[in-house]
Amino acid sequence: MEDERGRTNNHEQMMPTCSQQSSSQDGYCREKRETRISKENLYMVLALWMERFPIQSSRVQPYPNSGNSKKFKNVGVVFVLPTDRVLAADCSRDGVHGVARVMVNHCGKLEGCKVFVSRKPCSLCAKLLVQSRVSRVFYLPIEPESENEGELARADNLFKVSPVGQSVFVPCVEERVLTKDEKRLPEEITPDDIGKCRDQLFEEWWSAEWIKRAKVCLPWPCLDDRMKTQVESDFKSLMKWIAVVKAPMDKGVVFRKVTVTDGLVIKCDRDADHYSDFNIASHMMIFAKMLARQTDDPKKGVGAVIMKGTEDKEVATLGWNGFPSKALYGEFPRASDNDDALETKFPYVIHAEQNALLVRNAKDLTDGVLFVTKLPCDECAPMIKLSGVKTVVVGEMIEGSSQGGGELSYDLIRVYIKEGIISCYQMETQKTPAKRLSSYPELRKKMKSS
Ligand SMILES: [Zn+2]
Ligand SMILES: [Zn+2]
Repeated sequence: MEDERGRTNNHEQMMPTCSQQSSSQDGYCREKRETRISKENLYMVLALWMERFPIQSSRVQPYPNSGNSKKFKNVGVVFVLPTDRVLAADCSRDGVHGVARVMVNHCGKLEGCKVFVSRKPCSLCAKLLVQSRVSRVFYLPIEPESENEGELARADNLFKVSPVGQSVFVPCVEERVLTKDEKRLPEEITPDDIGKCRDQLFEEWWSAEWIKRAKVCLPWPCLDDRMKTQVESDFKSLMKWIAVVKAPMDKGVVFRKVTVTDGLVIKCDRDADHYSDFNIASHMMIFAKMLARQTDDPKKGVGAVIMKGTEDKEVATLGWNGFPSKALYGEFPRASDNDDALETKFPYVIHAEQNALLVRNAKDLTDGVLFVTKLPCDECAPMIKLSGVKTVVVGEMIEGSSQGGGELSYDLIRVYIKEGIISCYQMETQKTPAKRLSSYPELRKKMKSS
């Protein structure tokens, strides 16, 4: 349901499309597959998350700094190619609007892209988007990049006279997606932790004052009070989806360098170096963990994101593990947790690191950093080495692990660490008292209620 300007004002367009790809005789698998958010929702979350991309204050000018009196909000953006691969994820910084950064850094590749912007773009960004012939622009119903009503009208005019559609994006995260992800949380993370984290995120991004004016400002003719309540609750669900990833890391994590012994055992000394930029590492690890939830593999989701540049850091690529794109559901063995066909899927699954390396937006990844939720296997390690990436940050404890076990082996990455070809850091969760109490349900209950 679109009005004449191509705005989408309901959920329909953004509903997951995976059921169309499912094989009809495979009802069980279809059920499995739909317990994740749609790709569009994921791209929008990533755009929003990029608003929080940590910038080293030492060398970067604050944003906005354009010298005029206009105030612009920081905006996160994700550009998706017509092939459905992510071209870029960035945000407003160094005095350059998020959209404009991608335009400059990736010119020549923008035509036909779908653009996910966390906020309705200002007229500068709208004019660049129109001129570069992207196919469609989606933005959340939160406060726009510029609240100046003249700016909003100018942006509307630009879209109106172009074939580029603009749509208010209303997220839709189904309850069962949230329930599934919550079930996988470590025991020490309580529903209370998730709730707190969700409320913080919601407060950061949602303004009740703004939504009152949204009907006129966006403009959004059919936004009545009933719909406002629905939109607010949908946005809250999206914040909860982020909170499920973020809350465990809020308990405190560190990224420490590991070494490898002669017997290829990974060690981590208490006084080992920490990763040089904690804020970047924790931001990118949350990013990677969100990607992991997009996996095709019901057993182990893996997410990977590579950041390039030493001075001007930028997301070069991202990926998750899955079957070849456009594969129908019945075409490959999709082993579940309790099915014994597990080994048969291995030759077909494209690993998160492989997907990331295949679609990167820069050939040269020299000094790039790979943030990945799991230790890279022997298939991936030589490819990572070849790409020029020299630092790998793993989103879990890998200390003490030796041979891989199972179908895949994990020796090569150990050899590279040992030989100093790759520096590797592990993410450690701070030991919380709750963790030790987890074996004492009564005490745990008390802790929760206090
Ligand atoms: Zn702008
Ligand atoms: Zn691998």
